Amino acid sequence: MLIFISVALRAVRQPTRAHTDITLFFGALAFIILASRIAALSGTTTPPWLLAVEVSTLMAMPYILLRLVDDFTSVRGPVKRAAEIGLAAGIIATFAAMPALPPPVTLYVVGYFFLVSMFCAVAFIRAARRSKGVTRRRMEAISLGSILLGTDLLIAGLTPLAPDENRAVFQALGQLLGLGSAVAYYLGFAPPPILRRAWQEPELRSFLARAASLPRLPTTLDIVRELERGATNSTGTTARIGLWQDDTSKLRFWEDDGNTVDLEPGTHFAGRAYELQRPIFSANPIRENPDGAAGYRARNIGAVLATPITAGERRLGVLTFSAPRPPIFAVSDIELAGLLADQAAVVLESRALIDHATRVRAREEATRLKEDFLSAAAHDLKTPLTTVVAQAEFLERRAVREPSAPADLAGIRRVVRESKRLAGLVGDLLDATRLEQGGLVGEREPVDLATLAQEVCAHDTADRSICRVEASAPVVGAWDRRRVEQLLQNLVENAKKYSPDRTPIKVRVWQEESEARVAVEDSGIGIPAADLPRIFERFSRASNVDDKRFHGMGLGLFICRGIVEEHGGRIWVESEVGKGSTFHVALPIADGRRLN
Ligand code: ADP
Repeated sequence: MLIFISVALRAVRQPTRAHTDITLFFGALAFIILASRIAALSGTTTPPWLLAVEVSTLMAMPYILLRLVDDFTSVRGPVKRAAEIGLAAGIIATFAAMPALPPPVTLYVVGYFFLVSMFCAVAFIRAARRSKGVTRRRMEAISLGSILLGTDLLIAGLTPLAPDENRAVFQALGQLLGLGSAVAYYLGFAPPPILRRAWQEPELRSFLARAASLPRLPTTLDIVRELERGATNSTGTTARIGLWQDDTSKLRFWEDDGNTVDLEPGTHFAGRAYELQRPIFSANPIRENPDGAAGYRARNIGAVLATPITAGERRLGVLTFSAPRPPIFAVSDIELAGLLADQAAVVLESRALIDHATRVRAREEATRLKEDFLSAAAHDLKTPLTTVVAQAEFLERRAVREPSAPADLAGIRRVVRESKRLAGLVGDLLDATRLEQGGLVGEREPVDLATLAQEVCAHDTADRSICRVEASAPVVGAWDRRRVEQLLQNLVENAKKYSPDRTPIKVRVWQEESEARVAVEDSGIGIPAADLPRIFERFSRASNVDDKRFHGMGLGLFICRGIVEEHGGRIWVESEVGKGSTFHVALPIADGRRLN
């Protein structure tokens, strides 16, 4: 009776179909209990018409339950029609049979009751399987109620068949089951807020526990996905997050297939919740927002709740929940949604802060790189330039003082050499900039790597015994000749530069499957293991080289890697300090597209 009064009051306050059905259900139960109690207490026999009304009410209960299944999930039309016809037939038979129910009618009533309530129990169990969080617990409670009620009536129907001395036990069991089912229904259909909170707690707790680590996920989208998953699990509805995009002034949602949907503020429920900065609930989104009707129908959405995600003054986005049926939501869900939205705001804010810090660090890093670059460039250009200027001034003074003296060939050669080195440095700087823009490699043509290696070796070292090429056959591919030559030159020059004078260098050229392979091997100073991972990076120099002994800007290998990678190849190094280094290059041969 108390449960009936409480659900009836709620139905008056919020007259939805589900609330009406729940009230009807408990009203029927209350009526039967009241009528039988009054009859038992007054000791009078129940008039036949009242008995017929009671039996009819009893039969109506599983039918109302079926309507409730329809409120929470859905029931197919023919099933509903069959249940209605069965109910009508039972009521007519009951009234026609009065004053006493013959066994076939009793059997029919019990059978109908048992069948329909078991159907409902199974429907709710299936709905429970599909749902999560609180919704799942509610569906489970309702299915338990249906099982208890069906069993209860089965026992009531069988009681008359039991021996007299056992009837009292059957009756007591029946009453216990009846009470159990009423409580289970109450918890499922109208869970009191305390219970809802208790049911929400485990998911909420795990959501909050996970939230702390979310801001460190690789991308904001990963965070959004995790937040959505957490909110979905805690509420048992489908949760989506829309993030405010400053550049487009729209809310952006990410679909499961990776597509994005942008929403103007003020449009649909999410846009309105964002604009008004308060939660919006709709139990009939198709009617209340005709613009989105097609989408709601396609995605089977019968109820929507949208809550703004706001951190202080900053409006970050919205959190929306959708469910196939309105009764899946309850008043306390709005509170829960607010709580989840606040948590999402904290996570997204921390992420924004981390991003900001990263941007600041990247800016500082860029500035530092630029400064490094300027000082390295200035330093490296200054040394040859000083030599050139000094040498040229000396030659000039000498020419003025002794116009007829023979030319100082050694001095002129020094000027030429240092000027070339200067030109080389400036070239490297330009190449490094070009590389940033991805435009280092130009026209490709057939190139024989073995011949090219010979030329580079011969050009670089007058002494043939120092740079030796090992190649048993031509290795031809379609490459940018100038750049591949530059690559080999860089590697051979490094091998020479970082080895004691006149230490031999070996260049091996061969083909391995569809790749051309080059290995430049020296027995020089080597590279410390700790420096190996970043040796191909811009301005990177190993810790065992100093500017005085080995001049250089740390651009050569960076450019080499650029040339190789733009050709679709790989470059790597094996090295040991004090023993020497081997630089490996692999270039794809099969790329003959530009040749044909
Ligand atoms: P640079 O030679 O101008 O410093 P690179 O980019 O050509 O610039 O080389 C980067 C660094 O790699 C060098 O500073 C040096 O520490 C190391 N390195 C390159 N080649 C060799 C080599 N053959 N032997 C030892 N160290 C090398």
